[in-house]
Amino acid sequence: MNRWFLRGLRTGIVTTRFPSGIDAMPAGWRGRAVCQEGADAQSIARAAAVCLSGAIEERSGAVDVDRCFQCGECARITPRAFAMSAEFNLAHFSADPTEERARLRERVRSLGKSIMIRHIDVGSDCSEDQEMQALFNPYYDVTRLGIFLTASPRHADLLAVTGAVTGAMAEPLRRTYDAMPEPKVVVAVGTSAASGGIFAGSPGIIGAVERVIPVDIAIPGSPPPPLAIIAGLWLALGRIPPVACR
Ligand code: SF4
Repeated sequence: MNRWFLRGLRTGIVTTRFPSGIDAMPAGWRGRAVCQEGADAQSIARAAAVCLSGAIEERSGAVDVDRCFQCGECARITPRAFAMSAEFNLAHFSADPTEERARLRERVRSLGKSIMIRHIDVGSDCSEDQEMQALFNPYYDVTRLGIFLTASPRHADLLAVTGAVTGAMAEPLRRTYDAMPEPKVVVAVGTSAASGGIFAGSPGIIGAVERVIPVDIAIPGSPPPPLAIIAGLWLALGRIPPVACR
């Protein structure tokens, strides 16, 4: 808070420019894991063996962005084979983007410039919820973009879901979705919501949100930072940021 306050005094700017301008991520920011060109099979196998979420494909070394929770362990033990990228915007359509982009744009056409979000936690570790809360602080201040929270699904345009779905939360999630009016845009916020993350396959855990309700946009990250969530919401609303945000 103090740093934010002092920077505001120094620069005269208190709110992020994103998405109309690029904001630099803090030094040491760790994005997702990437397999380096020329990585040998032995290193890939070692990295895959330590990856708790099974994000690394053993033969090719490809990293599943929805499963990687950015722990950095693969890059630590095999630094020549894997590295952590600085990407922060990992939001993507949950289905084929060429078809889904047009379909979603058509669906959200009626929403206008202002949207109401219902946020539901279906089993998160609270890290994604903290980032969701940060969207409304004075720095990120998404109300400047016409994004507001609502407590009722009946008033919601967009459902933001955090956490891997637990058995107990599947029915409340389904009922929340059913209570929303069309066009019901659904965004899975965080690696756990996108794929189940390290909780997938655990007793009492159903896993990815798409196993219970249809998902339009996934925003992987553990947790995704507020800028990544804003970029994901922008993607969902068909308002692609005018600047590259990776
Ligand atoms: S979850 Fe950790 S070990 Fe697995 S790919 Fe991501 S950074 Fe590497």
